[in-house]
Amino acid sequence: MITVLGSANMDLVVTVDRAPGRGETVTGRTFTTVPGGKGANQALAAARAGGEVAFVGAVGDDEFGRGITSLLAGDGVDVSGLAVSDQPTGTAHITVDATGDNSIVVVPGANGTVTSLTDAHRAAIDAAEIVLLQLELPLGLVAEAARYARSRGVRVMLTPAPAVPLPPELLTAVDVLVPNEHEAALLAGVADPVAAARSLAAGGGDVVVTLGGRGALRVAAGAETAVPAFAVEAVDTTAAGDTFAGVLAVGLAAGLDWDDALRRASAAAALSVRRPGASSSMPDRAEIDAFLTE
Ligand code: ADP
Repeated sequence: MITVLGSANMDLVVTVDRAPGRGETVTGRTFTTVPGGKGANQALAAARAGGEVAFVGAVGDDEFGRGITSLLAGDGVDVSGLAVSDQPTGTAHITVDATGDNSIVVVPGANGTVTSLTDAHRAAIDAAEIVLLQLELPLGLVAEAARYARSRGVRVMLTPAPAVPLPPELLTAVDVLVPNEHEAALLAGVADPVAAARSLAAGGGDVVVTLGGRGALRVAAGAETAVPAFAVEAVDTTAAGDTFAGVLAVGLAAGLDWDDALRRASAAAALSVRRPGASSSMPDRAEIDAFLTE
């Protein structure tokens, strides 16, 4: 099983011709609500790809929380350990202007209440082959979860986003670090993503740095593998990294070797960028299989 301990947000997206300045009101063009949060996205991507997945974290006792929960449950994610908080479901308030630039305010809400490991978290980690973590829950909790998983012999995969400097005791408990190139550079303090990945892998774990349309690179002790991107027409790269991480976890949990697991992750991420949206763009297992035999 794959346990995802992470965030669930409702993205509230408005499109505008021009973002408002300070004190200004503008009229928007469209408004959409899109379930998101890196934790929920990775759980959904993994479940669609055929993984047995549990999602633990917290939502509010509100429509957004119920919407996200039913979306996950509808794709077969076990949400029995998902807490319902007295804080509202996390929200991301996103304004996208005509040039595609965005400005975002994130209100963690219920996600911010997940501050230490509960019995439900421990049970979900104990049942897993691999636990997926990101940095949209409080950092202390993420570090505690990684250490606990390590102590139980459960593999730990961390997507270090949004990027913040990480305490060494968290990094040393991570088996598979999956940063994008910006996150890798920030964590390693080195601008070049390849050099950054090498430096991060010196700690002993596997590092898979994702490079957008240029694919990904895996660096581990004594091994470096380039993972080509599949050539597709990119429409919307939202959640490409989350799709990649979720599907990589499915492959590793199923015992695939690294090359096969990375190829499936890369195919799934490529399929997701061909379609708009986050959850709406993630492929299922049959689609990934068909794409790989095209
Ligand atoms: P993030 O979304 O976290 O910034 P990336 O942009 O690095 O992550 O993308 C993650 C993965 O998604 C890449 O390693 C690649 O496999 C796939 N991907 C992203 N953009 C494209 C693209 N334009 N064409 C094909 N695959 C892509």
